[in-house]
Amino acid sequence: MSKVAIIGGGITGVATAYELAKLGEEVILFEKNYFGSGSTFRCATGIRAQFTDEANIRLMKYAVERWEKLGEELGFDINFRQTGYLFLATSEEEVEAFKNNIRLQNKFGVPTRLIDMDEAKEIVPILNTEPFLAGAWNPRDGKANPFKTLFAYLFRARELGVEAREKAEIIGFEREGKEITAVKYRSNGKVESVKVDAVLNAANAWAPLINEMAGLKRELVPITPYKHQLVKTEPLERGQAEPLVCPPSWNDAYIIQDGEDGGIICGAGIEHRAKSMDDYEPTYDFLRGVLRYATMIAPPLRHAHIVRQWAGFYAKTPDKNPAIGKLLDNFYIAAGFSGHGFMMAPAVAQAMAELIAKGRSKVPIDWDWYDPYRFERGELRSSAFQIG
Ligand code: FAD
Repeated sequence: MSKVAIIGGGITGVATAYELAKLGEEVILFEKNYFGSGSTFRCATGIRAQFTDEANIRLMKYAVERWEKLGEELGFDINFRQTGYLFLATSEEEVEAFKNNIRLQNKFGVPTRLIDMDEAKEIVPILNTEPFLAGAWNPRDGKANPFKTLFAYLFRARELGVEAREKAEIIGFEREGKEITAVKYRSNGKVESVKVDAVLNAANAWAPLINEMAGLKRELVPITPYKHQLVKTEPLERGQAEPLVCPPSWNDAYIIQDGEDGGIICGAGIEHRAKSMDDYEPTYDFLRGVLRYATMIAPPLRHAHIVRQWAGFYAKTPDKNPAIGKLLDNFYIAAGFSGHGFMMAPAVAQAMAELIAKGRSKVPIDWDWYDPYRFERGELRSSAFQIG
């Protein structure tokens, strides 16, 4: 049994702690703030296998299969619901692009199909069908509750012996050659250190700072925090917009009915580089912009009250694909998830845990695609569609 330190108590770190503990490893999990306080509790809840490249499609197909059984495995209701994702095309060129994506997704067993606007209207009763020519529809995509999911993983991880610490900030490492031998952390005003056999950097937007502490260049894995915002309406009758609905050509705007209270969550690619690592202030520009798109997608939303607006980070790499893999002999990274770290977590956590504990994984993950050293080599992947 080896001792693994995980840095970051978001969904990636917590789920990996659980998976490692299942494999019999000793795990100590550090979260500098409170669990979920990074991007995880700010997310739009969406889960999809509708990606546009083989690596992400295969990983997410596997992740969705894990999501389907996750509540049962963890013994908690995480409110995972397969309410689908509906992408909408506004031009003939986009319809052709959708057809190509659908062919690729079908090739790997993801059952997306092209639907007409009559069918789309049946699925999303408040949809304005007029601007759209066709939809790419996968009924197996869905959503889950990020709070319930993280706490379910955390509860089971602790039960399996994981030492999970909040308000415990990693501030440095001891390193010998290509190995990290100890992590240094601050907790309750005291600085302490603990010997470890392996370390996972799951700090997402903060990951470059952690890499720097490990003696690597901050730019080695260039993850930049972008401020991404959401607004939410008062609860609407269930069934009005259950799937995530997105016309990508409208600045990646999307709506999705919250699986818990039925409010409509509205997002869009109206974002900018965060000014600092606590730049969480919602902006009026976003509110105005996102509501313009949301009411074009679903005009009845004009009559709905907005009850919340919030911001979080999309931690973006230059190709919007995460960095997942090994950085030093016993120093690993799973970070830079843009708008898809929540949905990927069940697969990525299992893959990371198996890599750390056994040196290989059963998860169909293309390690080369997500290789954290690809940026240094100037090998960018095709850009992953970034929204939730
Ligand atoms: P995080 O949740 O960011 O966790 C990293 C943690 O590391 C933080 O809690 C931080 O405090 C901690 N940390 C940092 N430095 C240190 C240190 N020195 N010591 C200890 N701890 C440290 N994804 C989806 O899949 N579907 C969606 O619909 C979706 N919608 C989104 C909507 C919004 C508005 C935003 C902002 C994101 C959305 N995402 C979505 C993205 C998703 O939220 C993230 O990709 C995911 O939560 C990343 O999880 P994580 O655990 O890797 O990182």
